[in-house]
Amino acid sequence: MSAWEPVIGLEVHVELDTQTKMFCGCAVTKGDPPNTHTCPVCLAHPGALPVVNERAVEYAVRIALALGCTVRPRSVFHRKNYFYPDLPKAYQISQYDEPLAVAGLFEYWVGEQKLSCRINRVHMEEDAAKLIHAGGDAGRIAGSEYSMVDFNRGGTPLIEIVGEPDIPSPEAAREFLQQLRNLVIGLGVSACNMEEGQIRWDANISVRPAGAERLGTRTELKNMNSFRFLQQALESELPRQIAVLEAGGAIGQVTLHFDPESGTTTPLRSKEEAHDYRYFPEPDLVPLTAGEAWVDEVRRALPEPPAARVERFMAQYGLSRYDAVVLGGGSAMARFYEELAAEGIDAKLAANWAMGEYSAHLNAAGLEPGHGHVTAQRLAALLRLVAGGELSGTGAKQVFALMVEERGEALDIVSRHDLGQVSDSAELETVVAAVLAEHPAQVEQFRAGKDQLAGFFVGQVMKATQGKANPQLVGELVRAALSG
Ligand SMILES: [Zn+2]
Repeated sequence: MSAWEPVIGLEVHVELDTQTKMFCGCAVTKGDPPNTHTCPVCLAHPGALPVVNERAVEYAVRIALALGCTVRPRSVFHRKNYFYPDLPKAYQISQYDEPLAVAGLFEYWVGEQKLSCRINRVHMEEDAAKLIHAGGDAGRIAGSEYSMVDFNRGGTPLIEIVGEPDIPSPEAAREFLQQLRNLVIGLGVSACNMEEGQIRWDANISVRPAGAERLGTRTELKNMNSFRFLQQALESELPRQIAVLEAGGAIGQVTLHFDPESGTTTPLRSKEEAHDYRYFPEPDLVPLTAGEAWVDEVRRALPEPPAARVERFMAQYGLSRYDAVVLGGGSAMARFYEELAAEGIDAKLAANWAMGEYSAHLNAAGLEPGHGHVTAQRLAALLRLVAGGELSGTGAKQVFALMVEERGEALDIVSRHDLGQVSDSAELETVVAAVLAEHPAQVEQFRAGKDQLAGFFVGQVMKATQGKANPQLVGELVRAALSG
């Protein structure tokens, strides 16, 4: 056991999928030509005034409530001042000491262990424009020749979720983030597309002697744009801090940039203190008031949270925790699984197929659950054949592969490719008789009491029928023939 324990906190930004921007009527889009969705407000022309996007507030409140936060009856927008080319106003409208929501709790699972992380706050702000660094390598500003600005993204509604440093390991940080992302997607407020940067995060990490109360000095980690990179960055920072402390040194409060190529971090700049930003209340916006009745209305319309769904899957379908997390953790797979179960398919059989062949197919085809040719209804038609003994497990896998390949229906494929399981007793009895006749020595041994040879005969019959025989029926017929 290590004498040191890590303490990790995450700050997560989520772009909301509203139709228009946070403070103007420009469309929120992805992939359109640069600077085609701009107006005097999001380009900061003098005298242009912001107007709050009501839908964005509703989405933010959904996130806040799903995280168990208290939505404050009054919150205030602040100007966060800093000068950078992605910010035409030279300040970002954000929230500061009177945020939208505070004091939540997010519960997540690491294997069989349920952990919880306090949520300090959820606040609203606007996204900055997108900078494109050209003429260098890897699109980074260092080494580039010039930079371009695309203001389409500037002003997109953004939510910041600030977690407390309650996360006990790099692996837990990864789980926290994956499950938080599932939660947000399930709320229907953001697709959280990682490639498009719709969800982004920074981590802070410190270490302290195991069991100690006081937190050590933390460093901040940036540029981790995949779950794997987050875990990797934290795993590389952890031993570095421990080595410094064990050598009698002190941790400097720095921001570190993660380099995915080398898997290590390098210092970026010394930590900016909050007052560097010179926050002051946004004079062009009145404070936001969230009425209790409206907040209750939003709360009532919230979908089932993933953590509760996992518990329900265990109780309702008798799934193991592992299966329930895989199937119930994300809303799309959960919906698919429940559609399958609603078709009357045995819960365990449905679970095995959803997590096995079906998931492998989704991965190979790059599809989200519920998309593509294999709908829950089509898979259910296949599984009914398995449950009814008309298809063996192996046969069903063949049929599934053909369903994907030919975009066909299970029943049709079984008949066209002659893949059905043979459950015709008369037909199988002939095969059984032939197998016994071929192996007289084994028959004699069986009759002399070597009972386990029954399996051998079943195997031979399966081989003779190219795996198409109903194995249960073959077992019965073999025993009947041998005792005869
Ligand atoms: Zn605009």
